[in-house]
Amino acid sequence: MTALHPFLDQVSAFFERQLIYDASPEKRWAWGERGHGIIGYIEFVQDALDGDASLVDNFALLLSGRENLDPNSFCPCGRNRKYKHCHAKRIAKLIERFGENNPFFQLADRRDIDNQNMRS
Ligand SMILES: [Zn+2]
Repeated sequence: MTALHPFLDQVSAFFERQLIYDASPEKRWAWGERGHGIIGYIEFVQDALDGDASLVDNFALLLSGRENLDPNSFCPCGRNRKYKHCHAKRIAKLIERFGENNPFFQLADRRDIDNQNMRS
């Protein structure tokens, strides 16, 4: 049942959007259109980080929730502010929103695999 819930959440959101699309005369997706799979997540995160694509890359490992940053160290965004006073809350909210299906887990895994392949 726990594995089924996130799937049903996504399916019900899809059908809700599909109904709105079908009912709209101009056939437009509500809340815009996003790419499928990881691409859509990256677009979502980019929007959440004020549209800055480079920030998605800077925060990718933190977004996976597998890497932590000292709250008193400089924020990876490069604004010369402490992480806790800059992007920490927004990143924590995104990680919480992704829940069990955090798409950045896969990216973190892929980077680990790439790093191992480069070493061997
Ligand atoms: Zn920041």
